[in-house]
Amino acid sequence: MKILMVCAEFAPWAKTGGLADAVAGLSDALCASGHDVRVLLPRYAHLPAPRGTRHTVEGVGGPFRLAELEPDQKAEHAGRRRARPRVFVVDLGDLTGDAIYTGDARDAGRFLRLSAAAAAFSAAKAWRPDVLHCHDWHTALVPVFQRLPPRATARSVLTLHNVGYQGIFAASVFAEHGFAALEQVLPADARASGDTNFLRAGLRAADRVTTVSPTYADEIRLPEFGMGLEDVLDERSGDLVGILNGVDYSVWSPERDPFLPQRYDAKDLAPKRRLKKRLLGRLKLVADVDAPLVGSVSRLVAQKGIDLLAAVMPALLQDTNASFAVLGNGDPAISGELRRLADAHRTRVSFIEGYDEALAHEIFAGSDLTVVPSRYEPCGLTQMYALRYGSIPVVRATGGLADTIRHFDAATGLGNGSVFRDADPQGVSWGVRTALGWYADQDVWSQLVRNAMAADFSWPLQVPHYEELYRSLL
Ligand code: ADP
Repeated sequence: MKILMVCAEFAPWAKTGGLADAVAGLSDALCASGHDVRVLLPRYAHLPAPRGTRHTVEGVGGPFRLAELEPDQKAEHAGRRRARPRVFVVDLGDLTGDAIYTGDARDAGRFLRLSAAAAAFSAAKAWRPDVLHCHDWHTALVPVFQRLPPRATARSVLTLHNVGYQGIFAASVFAEHGFAALEQVLPADARASGDTNFLRAGLRAADRVTTVSPTYADEIRLPEFGMGLEDVLDERSGDLVGILNGVDYSVWSPERDPFLPQRYDAKDLAPKRRLKKRLLGRLKLVADVDAPLVGSVSRLVAQKGIDLLAAVMPALLQDTNASFAVLGNGDPAISGELRRLADAHRTRVSFIEGYDEALAHEIFAGSDLTVVPSRYEPCGLTQMYALRYGSIPVVRATGGLADTIRHFDAATGLGNGSVFRDADPQGVSWGVRTALGWYADQDVWSQLVRNAMAADFSWPLQVPHYEELYRSLL
């Protein structure tokens, strides 16, 4: 099948979070299964200059200038050696900038351009995709653009990686950026009191809707998780399916990790211990290598619940011998709290504020626990990464966390993590303390780590679900 992926993020070229890994992993796996996959991204200023021929496609708000990125420009991802999708970028003109998201109305202009260009590209004679696969609010308007000439006949799929981000802008953004024609074909309920909701429009217009875990697919039909879109999600439940994200183990496994100075696997964990020692030194934590190290790699936003972890840290520091390594950036209130904790407990709490791909790998490898206390979690990748590195996930039972982590039972030896129910400090505290209880018994812990490292969430397991979905549309 010919598939065009349209997205704001794509690893390794443009990444702020799981979206980039998920779309790249799926695209790679589809390529490996023999499909002709192409990707369309905005031409962010940080991207290398494309070297291939440039071409222009005509469409609403166009013309659009497209160029192809060279396949091997990101050497640090040398771990990827398989057939890879061809990646095209669309020129953003005066909206070009370094950041992937500006966080203001320029984002509307950028992603309107990307979406319009995707529809135009798909309708051009050169290469017509069977499936136009869009991701999140940034590209949710692609199927709406398909309602205007030149009409791309591709069937559309919209994947929801997080319904908490919807792309709500003043309705005037269409005219401001040269896309006034879109207003005539915009689904009526995508507009309310002068605003337009890009994601709602896409949910109405797409042929099929998917999300990134079965549990989240059910949750978002409810007011608690639907973020105001539960009505349309419930109406479209017949066209909505949850397919778990996969993991790219060529990058995210301790046997092959291109970022680690030492590799390891479940048969010999001695290198993991050395990596832990190295990490403790690097973070200036004085803990003994036998004491538990609790890690967390996360965007710092309310969704992720890191504030809950911060709230219970003082008591955990008092009652246990655990140390903490938190890598993240985002909300200043959450980072401020983590900084205060790190300042007050320099020898046992390290907070690294920022985005650091290499350090993320080192934390999964060097830690014993990975805490993911999300208030909601569409899929979540970090708990799946943590499993493979033998860092036991402590997660809240929601969305993809509930679909990937089973609470360990020391009596039967079954399970791969610590799962708590409530998104509150007591819940996190219980989850961490339960895991630390297992840590204290070496045999129990070894069993749990073996279970965790045996987990297989590789992409090829998920590809048949997407193939079935695509086929049902053609
Ligand atoms: P989300 O997409 O909601 O942020 P996921 O768990 O799906 O959550 O994916 C998060 C991805 O982003 C993982 O690859 C994780 O390692 C990475 N990540 C998050 N914060 C940071 C950070 N501060 N530095 C490096 N990587 C990070």
